[in-house]
Amino acid sequence: MNYPANRSPSTISIDAERLWSRHMEMARIGAIDGTGSCRLAMTAEDAEARELLASWCRQAGLDVHVDGAGNMFAVRPGSDPQRLPVASGSHLDTQPHGGRFDGISGVLAALEVIETLNDEGIETAAPLAVVNWTNEEGVRYAPGLLGSAWYAGLLDDEALARVKTADGTPFLQEARERGWLGDSADKFPLGAFVELHIEQGPTLEREGLQVGIVTSVQGLRWLDVEVRGTDAHAGTTPLDQRQDALFASARMLVALNEIGRRYGSAARVSVGQLRTATDGPSTIVGHASFVVDIRHPDADTLEQLTQECVAVCGTTGKASGCEVAVSERITIPPTAFHDTCITALERSAEEQGYSCRRMASGALHDAANVAKVAPTAMIFVPCRDGVSHNVKEYASPEDLAAGTNVLLHAVLKLAR
Ligand SMILES: [Zn+2]
Repeated sequence: MNYPANRSPSTISIDAERLWSRHMEMARIGAIDGTGSCRLAMTAEDAEARELLASWCRQAGLDVHVDGAGNMFAVRPGSDPQRLPVASGSHLDTQPHGGRFDGISGVLAALEVIETLNDEGIETAAPLAVVNWTNEEGVRYAPGLLGSAWYAGLLDDEALARVKTADGTPFLQEARERGWLGDSADKFPLGAFVELHIEQGPTLEREGLQVGIVTSVQGLRWLDVEVRGTDAHAGTTPLDQRQDALFASARMLVALNEIGRRYGSAARVSVGQLRTATDGPSTIVGHASFVVDIRHPDADTLEQLTQECVAVCGTTGKASGCEVAVSERITIPPTAFHDTCITALERSAEEQGYSCRRMASGALHDAANVAKVAPTAMIFVPCRDGVSHNVKEYASPEDLAAGTNVLLHAVLKLAR
Protein backbone atom coordinates (compact mmCIF):
# COMPACT_ATOMS: atom_id res chain seq x y z
CA MET A 1 0.00 0.00 0.00
CA ASN A 2 0.93 3.48 -0.76
CA TYR A 3 0.21 5.94 2.07
CA PRO A 4 1.03 9.63 2.24
CA ALA A 5 4.14 9.89 4.41
CA ASN A 6 2.58 11.40 7.54
CA ARG A 7 -0.68 9.41 7.66
CA SER A 8 -1.18 6.04 9.24
CA PRO A 9 -4.31 4.34 7.85
CA SER A 10 -5.51 3.55 11.37
CA THR A 11 -6.09 7.26 12.05
CA ILE A 12 -8.18 8.14 9.01
CA SER A 13 -11.90 8.75 9.20
CA ILE A 14 -14.76 9.32 6.82
CA ASP A 15 -16.33 12.68 5.94
CA ALA A 16 -19.54 12.72 7.99
CA GLU A 17 -20.89 15.84 6.26
CA ARG A 18 -20.44 14.43 2.77
CA LEU A 19 -22.14 11.19 3.87
CA TRP A 20 -25.12 13.08 5.33
CA SER A 21 -25.51 15.45 2.37
CA ARG A 22 -25.55 12.48 -0.02
CA HIS A 23 -28.41 10.99 2.05
CA MET A 24 -30.34 14.23 1.74
CA GLU A 25 -29.65 14.52 -1.99
CA MET A 26 -30.74 10.95 -2.64
CA ALA A 27 -33.90 11.56 -0.57
CA ARG A 28 -35.04 14.26 -3.03
CA ILE A 29 -35.78 11.49 -5.54
CA GLY A 30 -39.25 10.12 -4.84
CA ALA A 31 -39.65 12.34 -1.76
CA ILE A 32 -42.99 11.97 0.07
CA ASP A 33 -44.53 13.40 3.25
CA GLY A 34 -41.59 15.64 4.15
CA THR A 35 -39.05 13.04 5.29
CA GLY A 36 -40.22 9.95 3.40
CA SER A 37 -39.11 8.19 0.23
CA CYS A 38 -40.98 6.18 -2.38
CA ARG A 39 -38.69 4.55 -4.91
CA LEU A 40 -40.08 1.16 -5.80
CA ALA A 41 -37.73 -1.12 -7.71
CA MET A 42 -37.31 -0.33 -11.44
CA THR A 43 -39.71 2.62 -11.42
CA ALA A 44 -38.60 5.96 -12.88
CA GLU A 45 -37.61 7.02 -9.35
CA ASP A 46 -35.43 3.95 -8.83
CA ALA A 47 -33.79 4.56 -12.22
CA GLU A 48 -33.08 8.17 -11.26
CA ALA A 49 -31.57 7.08 -7.93
CA ARG A 50 -29.38 4.54 -9.74
CA GLU A 51 -28.22 7.22 -12.19
CA LEU A 52 -27.31 9.55 -9.31
CA LEU A 53 -25.34 6.79 -7.58
CA ALA A 54 -23.60 5.87 -10.85
CA SER A 55 -22.62 9.51 -11.43
CA TRP A 56 -21.11 9.74 -7.92
CA CYS A 57 -19.28 6.46 -8.47
CA ARG A 58 -17.86 7.63 -11.81
CA GLN A 59 -16.73 10.90 -10.22
CA ALA A 60 -14.92 8.74 -7.64
CA GLY A 61 -13.14 6.96 -10.49
CA LEU A 62 -15.10 3.71 -10.23
CA ASP A 63 -16.17 1.45 -13.11
CA VAL A 64 -19.90 0.75 -12.97
CA HIS A 65 -21.09 -2.73 -13.99
CA VAL A 66 -24.68 -4.06 -14.08
CA ASP A 67 -25.51 -7.75 -13.94
CA GLY A 68 -28.40 -9.83 -15.25
CA ALA A 69 -30.68 -8.89 -12.35
CA GLY A 70 -29.87 -5.18 -12.50
CA ASN A 71 -27.52 -5.31 -9.50
CA MET A 72 -24.94 -2.51 -9.69
CA PHE A 73 -21.24 -3.05 -8.90
CA ALA A 74 -18.97 0.02 -8.92
CA VAL A 75 -15.36 -1.10 -8.73
CA ARG A 76 -12.10 0.48 -7.61
CA PRO A 77 -9.07 -1.57 -8.72
CA GLY A 78 -6.64 -3.05 -6.21
CA SER A 79 -2.89 -3.56 -6.49
CA ASP A 80 -3.17 -7.37 -6.58
CA PRO A 81 -4.87 -8.59 -9.78
CA GLN A 82 -5.39 -12.05 -8.22
CA ARG A 83 -7.73 -10.80 -5.51
CA LEU A 84 -11.53 -10.65 -5.71
CA PRO A 85 -13.22 -7.40 -4.66
CA VAL A 86 -14.08 -6.64 -1.04
CA ALA A 87 -17.57 -5.22 -1.50
CA SER A 88 -20.03 -3.26 0.56
CA GLY A 89 -23.49 -1.93 -0.17
CA SER A 90 -27.21 -2.53 0.27
CA HIS A 91 -30.26 -1.32 -1.68
CA LEU A 92 -31.60 2.00 -3.00
CA ASP A 93 -35.21 0.85 -3.49
CA THR A 94 -37.70 1.66 -0.73
CA GLN A 95 -41.09 0.72 0.66
CA PRO A 96 -44.07 2.77 -0.67
CA HIS A 97 -43.97 4.84 2.55
CA GLY A 98 -40.31 4.26 3.27
CA GLY A 99 -37.61 6.36 4.84
CA ARG A 100 -34.29 7.88 3.83
CA PHE A 101 -31.99 5.32 5.46
CA ASP A 102 -33.22 1.72 5.06
CA GLY A 103 -30.80 0.34 2.45
CA ILE A 104 -29.67 3.75 1.26
CA SER A 105 -27.25 4.19 4.16
CA GLY A 106 -25.48 0.95 3.28
CA VAL A 107 -24.92 1.99 -0.33
CA LEU A 108 -23.80 5.52 0.56
CA ALA A 109 -21.52 4.28 3.37
CA ALA A 110 -19.81 1.94 0.88
CA LEU A 111 -19.21 4.86 -1.48
CA GLU A 112 -18.03 7.07 1.39
CA VAL A 113 -15.41 4.47 2.36
CA ILE A 114 -13.94 4.52 -1.15
CA GLU A 115 -14.03 8.31 -1.41
CA THR A 116 -12.19 8.53 1.91
CA LEU A 117 -9.50 6.18 0.61
CA ASN A 118 -9.29 8.26 -2.57
CA ASP A 119 -8.89 11.45 -0.51
CA GLU A 120 -6.16 9.82 1.59
CA GLY A 121 -4.40 8.29 -1.42
CA ILE A 122 -4.66 4.79 0.05
CA GLU A 123 -4.53 1.82 -2.27
CA THR A 124 -5.74 -1.63 -1.21
CA ALA A 125 -4.45 -5.00 -2.38
CA ALA A 126 -7.93 -6.32 -3.18
CA PRO A 127 -10.23 -4.28 -5.42
CA LEU A 128 -13.17 -2.60 -3.65
CA ALA A 129 -16.77 -2.43 -4.83
CA VAL A 130 -19.96 -0.53 -4.02
CA VAL A 131 -23.05 -2.71 -4.58
CA ASN A 132 -26.69 -1.75 -5.06
CA TRP A 133 -28.85 -4.90 -4.91
CA THR A 134 -32.05 -4.81 -6.98
CA ASN A 135 -35.53 -4.97 -5.44
CA GLU A 136 -34.71 -5.72 -1.83
CA GLU A 137 -38.13 -4.57 -0.67
CA GLY A 138 -40.21 -6.83 -2.91
CA VAL A 139 -43.12 -4.40 -3.24
CA ARG A 140 -43.77 -4.31 -7.00
CA TYR A 141 -41.98 -7.57 -7.66
CA ALA A 142 -42.10 -10.63 -5.43
CA PRO A 143 -40.01 -12.05 -3.95
CA GLY A 144 -38.04 -9.40 -2.10
CA LEU A 145 -34.24 -9.68 -1.98
CA LEU A 146 -34.62 -10.44 -5.69
CA GLY A 147 -31.26 -9.24 -6.98
CA SER A 148 -29.20 -10.85 -4.24
CA ALA A 149 -31.20 -14.11 -4.49
CA TRP A 150 -30.41 -14.35 -8.20
CA TYR A 151 -26.79 -13.39 -7.50
CA ALA A 152 -26.45 -16.18 -4.92
CA GLY A 153 -28.07 -18.75 -7.21
CA LEU A 154 -31.20 -19.08 -5.04
CA LEU A 155 -33.31 -17.90 -8.00
CA ASP A 156 -32.36 -19.15 -11.47
CA ASP A 157 -32.67 -17.36 -14.82
CA GLU A 158 -36.01 -19.00 -15.63
CA ALA A 159 -37.50 -18.01 -12.27
CA LEU A 160 -36.21 -14.46 -12.73
CA ALA A 161 -37.81 -14.34 -16.18
CA ARG A 162 -41.18 -15.24 -14.60
CA VAL A 163 -41.10 -12.35 -12.10
CA LYS A 164 -43.85 -9.83 -12.95
CA THR A 165 -45.68 -6.89 -11.39
CA ALA A 166 -49.29 -7.42 -10.28
CA ASP A 167 -50.42 -5.94 -13.63
CA GLY A 168 -48.24 -8.36 -15.59
CA THR A 169 -45.17 -6.31 -16.55
CA PRO A 170 -42.14 -8.64 -16.58
CA PHE A 171 -39.28 -7.55 -14.35
CA LEU A 172 -36.66 -8.16 -17.05
CA GLN A 173 -38.55 -6.09 -19.61
CA GLU A 174 -38.87 -3.14 -17.26
CA ALA A 175 -35.23 -3.36 -16.12
CA ARG A 176 -34.11 -3.38 -19.78
CA GLU A 177 -36.35 -0.44 -20.70
CA ARG A 178 -34.99 1.58 -17.79
CA GLY A 179 -31.45 0.85 -18.96
CA TRP A 180 -30.53 -1.18 -15.86
CA LEU A 181 -30.14 -4.73 -17.11
CA GLY A 182 -26.77 -6.28 -17.87
CA ASP A 183 -25.71 -9.59 -19.40
CA SER A 184 -27.25 -12.47 -17.43
CA ALA A 185 -24.07 -14.55 -17.78
CA ASP A 186 -22.17 -11.83 -15.97
CA LYS A 187 -22.15 -12.66 -12.24
CA PHE A 188 -19.67 -10.50 -10.50
CA PRO A 189 -17.56 -12.58 -8.06
CA LEU A 190 -16.88 -11.06 -4.62
CA GLY A 191 -14.11 -11.91 -2.16
CA ALA A 192 -16.09 -10.59 0.82
CA PHE A 193 -19.23 -8.54 1.48
CA VAL A 194 -20.00 -6.27 4.41
CA GLU A 195 -23.40 -4.55 4.58
CA LEU A 196 -24.14 -1.55 6.76
CA HIS A 197 -27.84 -1.13 7.60
CA ILE A 198 -29.97 0.70 10.12
CA GLU A 199 -31.01 -1.68 12.90
CA GLN A 200 -34.78 -1.31 12.31
CA GLY A 201 -35.24 -2.30 15.95
CA PRO A 202 -34.78 -0.64 19.35
CA THR A 203 -31.87 -2.57 20.91
CA LEU A 204 -28.87 -0.34 20.16
CA GLU A 205 -30.71 2.85 21.06
CA ARG A 206 -32.08 1.34 24.28
CA GLU A 207 -28.62 0.15 25.32
CA GLY A 208 -26.94 3.40 24.30
CA LEU A 209 -24.61 1.68 21.80
CA GLN A 210 -23.28 3.18 18.58
CA VAL A 211 -22.72 0.04 16.54
CA GLY A 212 -24.10 -3.49 16.25
CA ILE A 213 -21.92 -6.28 14.88
CA VAL A 214 -24.37 -8.66 13.22
CA THR A 215 -23.31 -12.27 13.55
CA SER A 216 -26.41 -13.91 12.05
CA VAL A 217 -29.82 -13.40 10.52
CA GLN A 218 -32.50 -15.26 12.41
CA GLY A 219 -34.42 -18.13 10.86
CA LEU A 220 -38.17 -18.21 10.32
CA ARG A 221 -40.98 -20.78 10.31
CA TRP A 222 -44.61 -20.30 9.44
CA LEU A 223 -47.15 -22.79 10.75
CA ASP A 224 -50.69 -22.99 9.36
CA VAL A 225 -53.06 -24.00 12.15
CA GLU A 226 -56.60 -25.26 11.37
CA VAL A 227 -59.00 -25.58 14.28
CA ARG A 228 -62.24 -27.54 13.77
CA GLY A 229 -65.11 -27.45 16.23
CA THR A 230 -68.88 -27.19 15.68
CA ASP A 231 -71.01 -24.20 14.67
CA ALA A 232 -73.59 -23.70 17.40
CA HIS A 233 -76.22 -21.30 18.80
CA ALA A 234 -74.82 -18.82 21.34
CA GLY A 235 -78.09 -18.79 23.27
CA THR A 236 -78.92 -22.48 23.50
CA THR A 237 -75.55 -24.26 23.74
CA PRO A 238 -74.22 -24.56 27.33
CA LEU A 239 -70.60 -23.47 27.78
CA ASP A 240 -69.42 -26.95 28.76
CA GLN A 241 -70.91 -28.50 25.63
CA ARG A 242 -69.28 -26.37 22.96
CA GLN A 243 -66.55 -27.11 20.45
CA ASP A 244 -65.70 -23.44 20.06
CA ALA A 245 -62.87 -23.07 17.52
CA LEU A 246 -62.34 -19.38 18.24
CA PHE A 247 -62.10 -19.89 22.00
CA ALA A 248 -59.71 -22.81 21.43
CA SER A 249 -57.62 -20.56 19.15
CA ALA A 250 -57.53 -17.85 21.80
CA ARG A 251 -56.19 -20.36 24.35
CA MET A 252 -53.57 -21.48 21.84
CA LEU A 253 -52.48 -17.89 21.24
CA VAL A 254 -51.91 -17.41 24.97
CA ALA A 255 -50.01 -20.71 25.21
CA LEU A 256 -47.86 -19.87 22.15
CA ASN A 257 -46.93 -16.50 23.60
CA GLU A 258 -45.93 -18.16 26.89
CA ILE A 259 -43.68 -20.63 25.06
CA GLY A 260 -42.01 -17.78 23.16
CA ARG A 261 -41.32 -15.90 26.40
CA ARG A 262 -39.80 -19.00 28.00
CA TYR A 263 -37.22 -19.14 25.18
CA GLY A 264 -35.76 -15.77 26.15
CA SER A 265 -35.26 -12.43 24.45
CA ALA A 266 -34.02 -13.81 21.10
CA ALA A 267 -37.21 -15.80 20.45
CA ARG A 268 -40.20 -14.47 18.49
CA VAL A 269 -43.59 -16.17 18.37
CA SER A 270 -46.40 -14.18 16.75
CA VAL A 271 -49.86 -14.60 15.31
CA GLY A 272 -50.76 -11.75 12.98
CA GLN A 273 -53.64 -13.35 11.13
CA LEU A 274 -56.69 -15.21 12.45
CA ARG A 275 -59.71 -16.15 10.35
CA THR A 276 -63.05 -17.55 11.36
CA ALA A 277 -65.40 -19.32 8.95
CA THR A 278 -68.49 -17.84 10.58
CA ASP A 279 -68.72 -14.20 11.50
CA GLY A 280 -71.88 -13.58 13.49
CA PRO A 281 -72.17 -12.34 17.07
CA SER A 282 -74.53 -15.16 18.04
CA THR A 283 -72.75 -18.10 16.39
CA ILE A 284 -70.20 -20.25 18.18
CA VAL A 285 -67.33 -20.54 15.70
CA GLY A 286 -66.96 -24.03 14.23
CA HIS A 287 -63.84 -23.38 12.18
CA ALA A 288 -60.90 -21.04 12.70
CA SER A 289 -57.43 -20.84 11.19
CA PHE A 290 -54.33 -18.83 11.95
CA VAL A 291 -50.65 -18.54 11.03
CA VAL A 292 -47.89 -18.74 13.64
CA ASP A 293 -44.70 -16.83 12.77
CA ILE A 294 -41.75 -18.26 14.72
CA ARG A 295 -38.21 -16.85 14.61
CA HIS A 296 -34.89 -17.56 16.29
CA PRO A 297 -31.22 -17.04 15.33
CA ASP A 298 -30.19 -20.60 16.29
CA ALA A 299 -31.31 -23.44 14.01
CA ASP A 300 -31.65 -26.10 16.74
CA THR A 301 -33.53 -23.77 19.05
CA LEU A 302 -35.83 -22.74 16.21
CA GLU A 303 -36.61 -26.40 15.60
CA GLN A 304 -37.26 -27.09 19.28
CA LEU A 305 -39.40 -23.97 19.63
CA THR A 306 -41.41 -24.99 16.56
CA GLN A 307 -42.02 -28.49 17.95
CA GLU A 308 -43.29 -27.03 21.24
CA CYS A 309 -45.62 -24.71 19.35
CA VAL A 310 -46.99 -27.61 17.28
CA ALA A 311 -47.51 -29.70 20.42
CA VAL A 312 -49.25 -26.99 22.43
CA CYS A 313 -51.71 -26.34 19.61
CA GLY A 314 -52.65 -30.03 19.63
CA THR A 315 -53.09 -30.38 23.40
CA THR A 316 -54.86 -27.05 23.86
CA GLY A 317 -57.21 -27.75 20.96
CA LYS A 318 -58.07 -31.17 22.35
CA ALA A 319 -58.69 -29.73 25.82
CA SER A 320 -61.18 -27.36 24.15
CA GLY A 321 -62.98 -30.17 22.34
CA CYS A 322 -61.65 -29.22 18.90
CA GLU A 323 -59.57 -30.98 16.27
CA VAL A 324 -56.35 -29.29 15.28
CA ALA A 325 -54.19 -29.75 12.18
CA VAL A 326 -50.82 -28.00 11.96
CA SER A 327 -48.79 -27.78 8.74
CA GLU A 328 -45.56 -26.01 7.92
CA ARG A 329 -45.76 -23.35 5.21
CA ILE A 330 -42.33 -21.70 5.11
CA THR A 331 -38.93 -22.47 6.60
CA ILE A 332 -36.00 -20.09 6.18
CA PRO A 333 -32.99 -21.38 8.13
CA PRO A 334 -30.87 -18.92 10.12
CA THR A 335 -27.80 -17.51 8.38
CA ALA A 336 -24.53 -17.42 10.32
CA PHE A 337 -22.13 -14.76 9.09
CA HIS A 338 -18.42 -15.33 8.47
CA ASP A 339 -15.92 -15.08 11.35
CA THR A 340 -13.32 -13.18 9.33
CA CYS A 341 -15.80 -10.44 8.47
CA ILE A 342 -17.33 -10.36 11.97
CA THR A 343 -13.88 -10.06 13.55
CA ALA A 344 -12.78 -7.33 11.14
CA LEU A 345 -15.86 -5.29 12.06
CA GLU A 346 -15.56 -5.90 15.79
CA ARG A 347 -11.84 -5.04 15.92
CA SER A 348 -12.48 -1.87 13.92
CA ALA A 349 -15.22 -0.78 16.31
CA GLU A 350 -12.96 -1.41 19.32
CA GLU A 351 -9.95 0.32 17.75
CA GLN A 352 -12.02 3.37 16.84
CA GLY A 353 -13.45 3.48 20.39
CA TYR A 354 -17.11 2.92 19.48
CA SER A 355 -19.40 1.11 21.89
CA CYS A 356 -20.76 -2.02 20.26
CA ARG A 357 -22.30 -5.43 20.81
CA ARG A 358 -22.78 -8.58 18.81
CA MET A 359 -26.37 -9.23 17.76
CA ALA A 360 -28.61 -11.19 15.41
CA SER A 361 -30.67 -9.47 12.74
CA GLY A 362 -34.41 -9.77 13.19
CA ALA A 363 -35.09 -8.73 9.60
CA LEU A 364 -33.93 -10.44 6.42
CA HIS A 365 -31.26 -8.63 4.38
CA ASP A 366 -29.43 -9.06 1.07
CA ALA A 367 -26.34 -10.02 3.09
CA ALA A 368 -28.09 -13.26 4.15
CA ASN A 369 -28.25 -14.26 0.47
CA VAL A 370 -24.72 -13.11 -0.35
CA ALA A 371 -23.45 -15.14 2.63
CA LYS A 372 -24.25 -18.28 0.61
CA VAL A 373 -21.51 -17.44 -1.90
CA ALA A 374 -18.98 -15.14 -0.17
CA PRO A 375 -17.70 -14.40 3.35
CA THR A 376 -20.19 -11.85 4.68
CA ALA A 377 -21.22 -9.90 7.77
CA MET A 378 -23.29 -6.85 8.66
CA ILE A 379 -23.00 -3.76 10.77
CA PHE A 380 -26.04 -2.05 12.31
CA VAL A 381 -26.41 1.59 13.26
CA PRO A 382 -29.17 2.72 15.66
CA CYS A 383 -32.37 4.26 14.32
CA ARG A 384 -34.69 6.42 16.37
CA ASP A 385 -37.26 4.42 18.37
CA GLY A 386 -36.44 1.43 16.17
CA VAL A 387 -38.82 2.85 13.54
CA SER A 388 -38.39 1.72 9.92
CA HIS A 389 -40.54 1.19 6.80
CA ASN A 390 -41.97 4.54 7.82
CA VAL A 391 -41.44 8.12 6.61
CA LYS A 392 -40.34 9.02 10.17
CA GLU A 393 -37.36 6.64 9.99
CA TYR A 394 -34.26 8.48 11.27
CA ALA A 395 -30.60 7.73 11.88
CA SER A 396 -28.39 10.55 13.19
CA PRO A 397 -25.41 11.89 11.20
CA GLU A 398 -23.17 10.91 14.16
CA ASP A 399 -24.36 7.31 14.26
CA LEU A 400 -24.11 6.95 10.47
CA ALA A 401 -20.56 8.33 10.64
CA ALA A 402 -19.61 5.92 13.44
CA GLY A 403 -20.93 2.93 11.49
CA THR A 404 -19.21 4.07 8.31
CA ASN A 405 -15.90 4.54 10.12
CA VAL A 406 -16.18 0.97 11.40
CA LEU A 407 -16.94 -0.14 7.85
CA LEU A 408 -13.92 1.81 6.52
CA HIS A 409 -11.47 0.11 8.86
CA ALA A 410 -13.04 -3.31 8.41
CA VAL A 411 -12.75 -2.93 4.62
CA LEU A 412 -9.08 -1.93 5.03
CA LYS A 413 -8.44 -5.08 7.08
CA LEU A 414 -10.25 -7.35 4.63
CA ALA A 415 -8.65 -5.79 1.53
CA ARG A 416 -5.05 -5.46 2.67
ZN1 LIG B 1 -33.27 -2.64 3.95
